[in-house]
Amino acid sequence: MPAAPEGPRQGALPRLSAPVLGVLYLLLCLSPILLAARSQTVPLDGWEAFGAGLGLSALAAMVVQLLTSGRFRLVSGRMGIDRIMAFHKIAAMAVLLGLVLHPLAYVLPTVMDDPARGAERLLAYHMLPAYRSGVVALAALLLLVMAGVLRDRMHYETWRAMHLGLALVALGGGLHHALTAGRLSAMGLLHGFWWGGAALVVAAFGVLYGWRWWRLHRKPFVLRGVALQADRIWELDIAPAPGIPPLDYRAGQFVWMTEGARRFPLFDHPFSIADTPTRPALRLIIKEAGDFTRTVGALSPGTPIGIDGPFGTFTLSDHPGDSVVLIAGGAGIAPIMGLLRDLVARRDPRPVRLAYAVGRPENLACLDEIAAAAAVLDLRVMLVSEALDASGQAETGLLDAPRLARLLEGLVPETCVAMICGPGAMVSAVSDGLLGQGLPMRNVVYERFDYAGALGARKDRRRTAQYLALLLGQGALVWALSRLLV
Ligand SMILES: Cc1cc2nc3c(=O)[nH]c(=O)nc-3n(C[C@H](O)[C@H](O)[C@H](O)COP(=O)(O)OP(=O)(O)OC[C@H]3O[C@@H](n4cnc5c(N)ncnc54)[C@H](O)[C@@H]3O)c2cc1C
Repeated sequence: MPAAPEGPRQGALPRLSAPVLGVLYLLLCLSPILLAARSQTVPLDGWEAFGAGLGLSALAAMVVQLLTSGRFRLVSGRMGIDRIMAFHKIAAMAVLLGLVLHPLAYVLPTVMDDPARGAERLLAYHMLPAYRSGVVALAALLLLVMAGVLRDRMHYETWRAMHLGLALVALGGGLHHALTAGRLSAMGLLHGFWWGGAALVVAAFGVLYGWRWWRLHRKPFVLRGVALQADRIWELDIAPAPGIPPLDYRAGQFVWMTEGARRFPLFDHPFSIADTPTRPALRLIIKEAGDFTRTVGALSPGTPIGIDGPFGTFTLSDHPGDSVVLIAGGAGIAPIMGLLRDLVARRDPRPVRLAYAVGRPENLACLDEIAAAAAVLDLRVMLVSEALDASGQAETGLLDAPRLARLLEGLVPETCVAMICGPGAMVSAVSDGLLGQGLPMRNVVYERFDYAGALGARKDRRRTAQYLALLLGQGALVWALSRLLV
């Protein structure tokens, strides 16, 4: 029987290839240098020009960071949160490096002639009132990067508020510095460019924390019910309030959720949609992990729920294949149930394999529904628990290479697509395991709920190498284009 077509597709923006995104990034980050080359100011010497180029490019990159950091559907709908988060972290380091080198390059020739005078000039750059906003921006960025490293040791909402505040200070300080202290940005097209950048920053914050807050309040969803699915794992059934249209999403995407009176974007948390768009309501499967998730089981029906989304590209429509392998670790069952429920709703004829790994057997959720799905789909299921399952339903151990080989039996690895969701380290191990079984890298798709061990997978390492090459290329182009300012 042919599969029913997928549900609404409005959220399906074309996924841009990595080279196209790289070129776009370079164009945006290098354009202020090109504009500076057109300005009629006093020519700079070689190192001054490089220092200026570094400052201009790093500031533009900071604005791009804000616009690409994952909360604008126009951007995240095309890239996926995994790529955005990985790039965000590495690019932040590159921006910091660029801004630290910016004043150093200005004073380098003096340092080489007379180190004491060079040090004096460098100190002056950091002390003079004219440069103060730039120094404040640099300090804020330094704290931002340090706080990023400490993220997992801090209360998440405190970290978010701090990240937001520091980002505002860094961007505001940087733009003020360019507009008031930068010779090249003092007038002309580049002056207008930074004002445009400032307007974009204000608009982005306005959308994120003004318009979205208003929407979460004016267009809430409503909790219909909460059910315990497994040990400390809850399923929330959420429907749009009367008069509000159903969410237009693709199976596997995620939303940012708030509840009750705290429907403000700063308090939201990401949760995958464990549902099919063929149903007008939304189910979320949430595991108790901390302060917020420990409260969801006690929410009363009727509670207003803020839903912002959908986001992400963890979808089968973005990743076609002749057969489908679904792999869940722990709470990673949430988007996997979304994909499975959608395959069932559309009676997808492709072979489907599901592997579900947990720490303890009492963590296994939705087992009856998974078993019932086998009546509709060509589905084979493998349950794995690290601790012994007395009932014998789950095998004891990890989702290791022999189990992955068994899971793939009867499938053609080259044409099959694997969707993996779970803790960082498990995702890395399974992703590498599937590559070892012959799946092409582009067909191994994953989403992590946490970023511990995030650089561990071969696919992550390749992506990191590409990002580093892009950022090195940016540095080389800054050097080359800054010759235009001499
Ligand atoms: C794209 C995505 C989809 C997710 N989908 C689900 C899902 O369907 N079901 C589910 O149970 N969990 C999901 N999570 C994880 C979930 O967002 C966190 O467990 C939750 O936000 C923890 O909040 P807390 O206040 O209860 O815990 P906290 O005490 O704040 O933190 C507990 C742990 O969760 C991490 N965490 C907290 N907030 C976030 C966040 N916004 N993003 C990433 N990690 C965070 C912390 O670093 C910490 O390790 C998803 C995460 C991401 C990134």
